Amino acid sequence: MLFKEFGFDNRILTSIGHLGFDVATEIQARAIPEAMAGRDLLASSKTGSGKTLAYLLPALHRVYKKKALSKRDPRVVILVPTRELAKQVYGQLRLLLASSRFTSILIQGGENFNDQHKSLQKDPHFIVATPGRLVDHLKQRHVFLEGLELLILDEADRMLDLGFADAMRAINDAANHRQRQTLFFSATLDNTDVSAIANELLREPSRVAVGQGFDEHTDISQHVFLCDHLDHKEALLKHLLVGQTIKQAIVFTATKSDTVRLSEIIASWGLSTQALNGNLSQSARNKTMESFAKGQFDVLVSTDVASRGLDIASVSHVFNFDLPKQAEEFVHRTGRTGRAGFKGDAYSLVGPKDWVNFKAIEAYLQKTFSIEVIDGFEAKFKGLVPPKPARAINNKPKAKTAPKSQKKSPKKSAAKARFHDNQQDGFDAFKLPAKRNTSAVDLGDEDE
Ligand code: ADP
Ligand code: MG
Repeated sequence: MLFKEFGFDNRILTSIGHLGFDVATEIQARAIPEAMAGRDLLASSKTGSGKTLAYLLPALHRVYKKKALSKRDPRVVILVPTRELAKQVYGQLRLLLASSRFTSILIQGGENFNDQHKSLQKDPHFIVATPGRLVDHLKQRHVFLEGLELLILDEADRMLDLGFADAMRAINDAANHRQRQTLFFSATLDNTDVSAIANELLREPSRVAVGQGFDEHTDISQHVFLCDHLDHKEALLKHLLVGQTIKQAIVFTATKSDTVRLSEIIASWGLSTQALNGNLSQSARNKTMESFAKGQFDVLVSTDVASRGLDIASVSHVFNFDLPKQAEEFVHRTGRTGRAGFKGDAYSLVGPKDWVNFKAIEAYLQKTFSIEVIDGFEAKFKGLVPPKPARAINNKPKAKTAPKSQKKSPKKSAAKARFHDNQQDGFDAFKLPAKRNTSAVDLGDEDE
């Protein structure tokens, strides 16, 4: 479908012309007409498929064509889980609004609250925000949402993972009137937590799903290697990073401290690299992302703050130095490459302590990865066998059962000691999490 066939306001067509796009992607072709018809929407499609324009363009159309419900309140609020993504979406919105009279602001944690208050007093038409900070302003009565026409949640599932459910509800309650329209977008929306909050926030939503979260992304080649321990992972990462042509790469780690540690190691291999995590000051985070986006260094070492939404065309490789605890994050992390039709490679290093997460990812993707081996980097570790299911519970008290701690076989303890240096925990408990882990602490990195 061509952009000129949607019936957009001419100003929108001019902006799209500036971007150089003629043909809508599939998610755009299917989601835009639903959104323009004023319906609530739950929309999902693979990473890099153009979801941002799928919600920004109908938002613009509505603001251009319809009379505002309120003179002062924002007309469109776009919520995203991380500051990096907020900045990117805001940048795209500003480009689209460049020659119009409509205004937009960015509200996110880590930046001056009073400055944000002042920009809210100018009654912007669009707000791009991380949920926690917007709620802070709502509580202070710096902003009112009674006139809000369109609430958009990008990466809605990740906002839930980060513990923003209450913030999302507070924003919903502040804008709870019949004329409001709500749109949810993500590559991964198919889980029960999202359905539950969607029931609260959306009114009889249309569902547009282009493929499934677990569908294979044909532009991304997946490579999986087994590793014995941290040294093994580092040696393999060096081989993979130094031994091939890489435009730019993102290396994901489980912890904030590992981003710093690993980027120092990568620098010692002669590559230009920087660490990104939620402990850094906002200006440091901005600087790092800006210079990475400009191609000023090669390897970004990051926690999951960079897993969602970031669109940098020259990311040719993604490395999972540790596997993510939540299977969906695998889709988002590896989706930082292979965007907008480009090809990319994703490498996952699976040690004993990644095994449970690895199996959960395979189950989520409904796929079995083939394990690759490079000469000289073979692993002794071959995966863990799940323990036999426990026998039926016998109610009779057992007379001579040794305490659990004494029952460990010496072999297993030795194995555990050998893998001790990996930071994640719990490889000998072979158990897939029964429920999604929604604790922000566990995720290691958080935005507000
Ligand atoms: P998603 O949110 O689905 O991961 P984005 O909205 O970030 O994807 O878009 C990915 C890339 O595709 C961006 O660089 C964007 O400019 C580009 N893009 C969006 N729409 C089109 C289109 N219709 N034709 C070509 N490229 C597009
Ligand atoms: Mg996106």
